Amino acid sequence: MTSIKPARFIDKSEITAIADRLLIKMRDAGKIPKWPQLADLVADYLDLSIVWEDFDAVKDGVIAAKIYPTRGEIYINNAFPAIRDNSGLYQSTVAHEIGHWVLHINLDASESEIAGVNSIQVGTIDRALTEEVFLCRGLAGDKTKVVNQKTPEEWREWQAQYFASCLLMPLDKLEEARRGRNLTNWKHLGAIGDELGVTISNLRNRLQDLDYLEKGGDSKQLYPGKRLRLAK
Ligand SMILES: [Zn+2]
Repeated sequence: MTSIKPARFIDKSEITAIADRLLIKMRDAGKIPKWPQLADLVADYLDLSIVWEDFDAVKDGVIAAKIYPTRGEIYINNAFPAIRDNSGLYQSTVAHEIGHWVLHINLDASESEIAGVNSIQVGTIDRALTEEVFLCRGLAGDKTKVVNQKTPEEWREWQAQYFASCLLMPLDKLEEARRGRNLTNWKHLGAIGDELGVTISNLRNRLQDLDYLEKGGDSKQLYPGKRLRLAK
């Protein structure tokens, strides 16, 4: 039995709904979602621990983070100090791993297998299980790949990253944060990024995805998107 779900197509609206539902469940449980350290709060709510570690580059490859399905542990590589120094990058990394936990891990299997570990042949089962791990290579998302060329692993990475941006930047929170601000002004975007605990580039991507800003290009100029034009 595996604790990693078979790869499947999950579209943006479904991922958005899953992230929104998680925030509602937290609120219902008395854990009020708060920014800018939301990812830490969500990890805590889900009982996921966060561990900094020196990764084995031979075994894992050069990667920033990973999650072990059966242990409920998120690992972040000490070799990526930028994640420690940049709170937006850190929040995004943790939220990405939470995305794997919520979208890709068969939680029932994990629980029953963990129960098995406690009762029999601890060493053998534990070793077998810990080989199941999400090694996260493309945290920023590889935009150069044509959509239909993605492998199942790449789709999982995309889904986890999209989940991270939905979780950290839900629509209602963005609406609240943009009040009195100009989304085509970089300084204002920086202030919103600080408030939400996200990097400015993640914020820009999210605003483009939601049509607050016009999509496309790496231009330094920000143009209002459909949603902003309609709101005027
Ligand atoms: Zn990943």
